[in-house]
Amino acid sequence: MSAVLIDKLRALVGAANVLTEGDLGAWEQDWRKRSRGKALAVVRPGSTQQVAEVVKACAAAGRSIVPQGGNTGLAVGSIPDESGTQVVLSLQRMNAIRGIDAANLTMTVEAGCVLQTLQETAEKAGFLFPLSLAAEGSCTIGGNLATNAGGTQVLRYGNARDLCLGLEVVTPQGGIWQGTSGLRKDNTGYDLRDLMIGSEGTLGIITAATLKLYPLPAAQLTAWAAVPTLEQAVELLGLAHKRLGAGLTGFEVMGRFALSLVAKHFPTLRVPFIEDDGVPYCVLLENSDNESEDHARARFEALLETAFEAGCVSDAVVAENLTQAHQLWHVRESIPLAQAEEGLNIKHDISIPVSRIPAFVEQTDALLEYELPGVRLVNFGHLGDGNLHYNVQAPAGAHNGDFLRDHEARINTLVYEAVRQFEGSFSAEHGVGSLKVETLEKHKSPVALEMMRAIKRGLDPQNLLNPGRVIRI
Ligand code: FAD
Repeated sequence: MSAVLIDKLRALVGAANVLTEGDLGAWEQDWRKRSRGKALAVVRPGSTQQVAEVVKACAAAGRSIVPQGGNTGLAVGSIPDESGTQVVLSLQRMNAIRGIDAANLTMTVEAGCVLQTLQETAEKAGFLFPLSLAAEGSCTIGGNLATNAGGTQVLRYGNARDLCLGLEVVTPQGGIWQGTSGLRKDNTGYDLRDLMIGSEGTLGIITAATLKLYPLPAAQLTAWAAVPTLEQAVELLGLAHKRLGAGLTGFEVMGRFALSLVAKHFPTLRVPFIEDDGVPYCVLLENSDNESEDHARARFEALLETAFEAGCVSDAVVAENLTQAHQLWHVRESIPLAQAEEGLNIKHDISIPVSRIPAFVEQTDALLEYELPGVRLVNFGHLGDGNLHYNVQAPAGAHNGDFLRDHEARINTLVYEAVRQFEGSFSAEHGVGSLKVETLEKHKSPVALEMMRAIKRGLDPQNLLNPGRVIRI
């Protein structure tokens, strides 16, 4: 049966695009190298029609499919399971820009386009495509939409969902839904686009999307501020909203230990204020301005002056030029990589109402330090969106693998119970994948779970697309 299917797939997309032998690690292993599956084959179609034919062939053979983009997801949803029976359907060859409509402020692109390529394409045409995250050099827009990725500009422009006007999708039966509409208004029944976005490859395969573009700002300035406490970081956020309005396009918080990992593993990077033990948190702010650089700088400086006077900033630097701004962002974006260098850790991508974050962190830090003395807390994230990457690293000198084996379940329970108590979400932007299926079952209401199961059963009764991920039926 498998051999017949593989021959059929070869006939559909060309033998060179059906991989069954050699090292398939790039498709079979997750980005954090925590899990590795085994694929029956990796198939790389080059067109929407080919995707549809591949889906039909797999459905006829009763083989399930794992859609994959850049394989940078952090919830282990893009790799096959260990059965050796699943087909990985990689969208990477579908990377054409179908067109830019300048008057409509839209760009229609194929799902396998790398995010950074889209940012550069938009910029060359005189526009901004604002989705931005540390994996942008290799993640794809299909994966970004499938996970409803967030990133560093959500504060101003929203999640991937908010940046998408239309989709083209191959259904689990191999039908093609042509919905790459550039309409900003379309109330014609259920919103299928929004159903697909964030469904993590369980309801359909995204093959193309129509995305929103924005005018390029006249100036973009970045500042790095030392803040005495997390409460004062929240106070600074309030001031920044008030003073900069829609100009506030980034507000990231970084705990001291997170930054010390960057300094340790990437010693060529200059991490501001890291020598000062008295700085527990730093904040990176970005101000985009539609008038001029002078205007932006004047507003930024006025904000920081007010913040100094209010005592919510103890020191600050404003980047003098774009190179310095990139250097500051590079430090922020190096935190996940520095953590990976430090060794396996327990990640929590959580959201809490911004106003309650300081109390959450104080209470949960104390609880974890009491239960697991010496544990190291890596805390950073998109404070402007109420989204923290609240990660837990083994005590210094402990074996990371042993620590995870012995304590991961307990730590997750403690953290997620605290998140529930503070009315937050256990997955702010990374999704559910296979890592958090049980957490979803525990924390989502029974009514919501039943609606999700009904949708999955209705659209994919054969349970063909990414089975066992997100919701079990
Ligand atoms: P993959 O990893 O290949 O897939 C992710 C999921 O989407 C899987 O379930 C897969 O089956 C599905 N999928 C992929 N393509 C398609 C498609 N065309 N159709 C249907 N389903 C599909 N996320 C954030 O939200 N914000 C961040 O700030 C952020 N920072 C990150 C930093 C680093 C260093 C890394 C490694 C990851 C980060 N992420 C972040 C995780 C983020 O979700 C992914 O990087 C990205 O959105 C996934 O895109 P991808 O193309 O790699 O998808």
